[in-house]
Amino acid sequence: MHGLSIQLSVDMKVMLIIGDGMADRPIKELGGLTPLEAAGAWNMDRLASMGVSGLFNALGPGVAPGSDVACLAILGYDPYKVYAGRGGFEAAGAGINMDDEDLAFRCNFATVNEDMIIIDERAGRIGEEAVKLAESLQNLQLRGCGDVEVVFRHTLGHKGAMVLKGCGLSPNVATPPPKAYGRADSFKPLDRTTETRKTVEVLREFLTATYNILKDHPINRARIVKGLPPANIVIPWGLGLKPKLSPMLDMFGTRGACVAAVSLIKGVCKLAGMSIIDVPGATGDLNTNIFAKAEAALKALENHEIVLVHVEAPDEASHDGDIHGKIKSIQKIDSMVRIILENISLDDVCVALMADHATSTRLRMHTADPAPISIASSELIPDGVSSYSERAAYRGGFGRLTGKDVMPILLNITGKSARFGA
Ligand SMILES: [Zn+2]
Repeated sequence: MHGLSIQLSVDMKVMLIIGDGMADRPIKELGGLTPLEAAGAWNMDRLASMGVSGLFNALGPGVAPGSDVACLAILGYDPYKVYAGRGGFEAAGAGINMDDEDLAFRCNFATVNEDMIIIDERAGRIGEEAVKLAESLQNLQLRGCGDVEVVFRHTLGHKGAMVLKGCGLSPNVATPPPKAYGRADSFKPLDRTTETRKTVEVLREFLTATYNILKDHPINRARIVKGLPPANIVIPWGLGLKPKLSPMLDMFGTRGACVAAVSLIKGVCKLAGMSIIDVPGATGDLNTNIFAKAEAALKALENHEIVLVHVEAPDEASHDGDIHGKIKSIQKIDSMVRIILENISLDDVCVALMADHATSTRLRMHTADPAPISIASSELIPDGVSSYSERAAYRGGFGRLTGKDVMPILLNITGKSARFGA
């Protein structure tokens, strides 16, 4: 072995693939398998067999996180310290600039009846028609609240973001996510101050204004004729303030890029100082252009040390209780894994595959069940786990991981670990 010198790779990079809500529970209709197990995702299995697996809970066992919180945790932030509501991330992802005193909201195009009872909280998952509807909502003036500026942007499908700018507003208002059969105007003041009262008033005005503009919009008339639910209101929820995050470059010395369709994840990554790569045809749903996303992610590896690719579709299918949609979306991500593995060498790129959390298709909600994570690199000793699934990950070499472990593990593999002590 004399004279054998090892080539030192100094620029190993990371590709982090996140299938949103991809993990699940055993499903009776699938003979007790999970959607991941039923999908026959053999590229994911190959990735697992070349690396080390484990069980992931963003915030620790027993806590079901939102996708924003899980993404923050994966990127190395402590959500309990930096999380100030969903709205701020949605607004950042939608490209709306915020000041410290502004209030931000996620918005849903939804269907209500004349009594403001929600019939469909996503207006039948309205697609691109929402772009035209959103155009009619620009320069929205609120009666009696003239000193408050409203900035509304459509983002994707039934989703939008809104920022209220003006003085005398308060974040102490509960703004729960819209639910079918609930009221559209279920905003609740959390104190008795004038500012809080005014904020509730402004939100109610916003609802009324969007309803008055949208209810007779030609697009909605046409939807009714076709038997589709009209998107006749925009409901703000998930109130948030402007998030303050230290950039990833300062925390870890790495340049990051994000390939995602949904504004929530784009917003988290943007505020983390990562480059946001927009991909035409990336819709977040089953029709998302997986191939274009994989290509964009591979290209982004050229000038970033870590590239995060996020696919929303499994979570959406889970929230709709759509088992087959979930399996299909997993198979699409499996194709993405294939393209990525075909185009990189594990000598140069460490590839991590994970779900940000589990989403139960039966319960139609996020759960605290651990999600599988597999990391492949030629720097790792494979642990013998040969498939990527919830069940297989029980035997993985990483054991149990939380959000704060992910970045240090990835950086360690690439030879960039932080050292504690002399
Ligand atoms: Zn999620």
